Amino acid sequence: VIEGPLMDGMNHVGDLFGAGKMFLPQVVKSARVMKRAVAYLTPYIEANKRADGNGATSAGKVVMATVKGDVHDIGKNIVGVVLGCNNYEIIDLGVMTPAEKILQTAIDEDADIIGLSGLITPSLDEMVHVAKEMARLGFDKPLLIGGATTSRMHAAVRIDPAYPGPVIHVNDASRSVGVVEKLINPASRAQFVQETKADYARLRELHQSGQRGRSLLELEQARARRFAPDWGEAAIVRPAHLGVHVFDALNLGELAEKIDWTPFFHVWEMKGAYPQILSDPIKGEQARAIYEDAHVLLAEIIRHGSLQARAVVGLFAANAEGDDVVLYTDDTRTQVATTFHMLRQQTDRGLSRPCYSLADFVAPRASGLGDYMGVFAVTTGIGVDALTSQYEAQHDDYSAIMVKALADRLAEALAEHMHEEVRRRLWGYAAHEDLTHEELVAEKYRGIRPAPGYPACPDHSEKRLLFDLLGVEEAIDLHLTESCAMTPTAAVSGFYFAHPQSTYFSVGRIDRDQAEDYAARKGMTLDEAERWLRPNLGYDS
Ligand code: SAH
Repeated sequence: VIEGPLMDGMNHVGDLFGAGKMFLPQVVKSARVMKRAVAYLTPYIEANKRADGNGATSAGKVVMATVKGDVHDIGKNIVGVVLGCNNYEIIDLGVMTPAEKILQTAIDEDADIIGLSGLITPSLDEMVHVAKEMARLGFDKPLLIGGATTSRMHAAVRIDPAYPGPVIHVNDASRSVGVVEKLINPASRAQFVQETKADYARLRELHQSGQRGRSLLELEQARARRFAPDWGEAAIVRPAHLGVHVFDALNLGELAEKIDWTPFFHVWEMKGAYPQILSDPIKGEQARAIYEDAHVLLAEIIRHGSLQARAVVGLFAANAEGDDVVLYTDDTRTQVATTFHMLRQQTDRGLSRPCYSLADFVAPRASGLGDYMGVFAVTTGIGVDALTSQYEAQHDDYSAIMVKALADRLAEALAEHMHEEVRRRLWGYAAHEDLTHEELVAEKYRGIRPAPGYPACPDHSEKRLLFDLLGVEEAIDLHLTESCAMTPTAAVSGFYFAHPQSTYFSVGRIDRDQAEDYAARKGMTLDEAERWLRPNLGYDS
């Protein structure tokens, strides 16, 4: 039954998916049928095996893991399901997996392929570490790399040179089956590996010539081009409620209405903007199906209160000191609560364009103006694990992935909700703001909420200061891993800047002088600072 009709069906689904005639949610739902049937049949197969020593065979074995320090696993789980329903045996080691465990399991299980996943930038370094360990231990198994911040370029420039065996960057589930097939089939493996190595060598050259052509401003020059906002009358508003505020048991139903649905479809590898995607002539039907499934699940989550929404917000007197922002314990500005360290753009974009730093949006101490800044952390992830393991126990990966995707959406909605609360009430600089859902999603309000790890403040380690300042761990049971990933993953943390001219930007490449200055400001060694800033380093460290 498994190797006949069920596998035939799955192969058909796989072919249609590969040809772009089926979408990921349909594959994952088909896999659910397969998995449930297999679970039902397994006891009979086991009994048979004992009787005549005959078992089912798999097409190959893949060990998969989210690397140490990282907790994001939606992408990994999706790839696991897709490979699993193509008859590959998946050994999923879960999240936060140290290199030793991944490699030992690959040896013990005699795996054909190792797959690494990660979302946050520090995971890129951890993947390089795993590759180096594989080289050191004399592995020759193919290494697959995937996850949101990974890229072909990163695989080519940093991972491929670290490991003489095959390294392949695969970022969508739809490509994973073809790649694994080519790697396992002895007839295609050598050529595929050779082509990929050649492709990555080309990319490395491209990268190097790009690096040579680029020149960065000296840090002092960049600082001279700092963005100088207007500090007139309306620029600074004293928050109505200074200090730290904790919010418990926020209303999930209210949050659900604030969800920005576009990224939800991206999780399911369906590109397009909501709501247009629902009426797309090709994708529309499947888009509507997952949208409806999401609403059924969301209604159940709200009814049972199976997820909890918690937030902590702090509003502080603050002033910029160089590229640091100093937060004070109170309005007398005599005692420092903490200091955040910002980075500054060093790319020369012409004299008329400023070199931005988030510190520019807070009045400098020397100006004599008393400014303010906010900090926040929110989560809707408490309860996710219980819910997903319940679905996984029912062999329902589709719903388990759906729960995680929805929890992430709720967390972003909560970040949006709290930001609105801050503008209208807690800080109160936009007390009369009244935006529609569309306007909120388009962020058509005064002020920004940049998040550490994102382009304006790419150093994840600033989250440690943020978490300490707000007492996030005790207040809302949200934690940081050693790579500063937040766990549970359905969480957002960041800063609030209220200046009307504050805007998002990307720090981009920085030079050694700024890395040294930054390390000194943070009391870190240059080495450690470079580790956190790696993707932004515009020089050879
Ligand atoms: N409505 C979206 C919101 C998340 S994306 C959703 O539901 O997914 C936008 C958020 O990402 C911003 O609010 C900010 O927190 C962060 N962000 C975007 N660009 C940024 C940048 N350049 N630097 C820092 N943070 C940024």
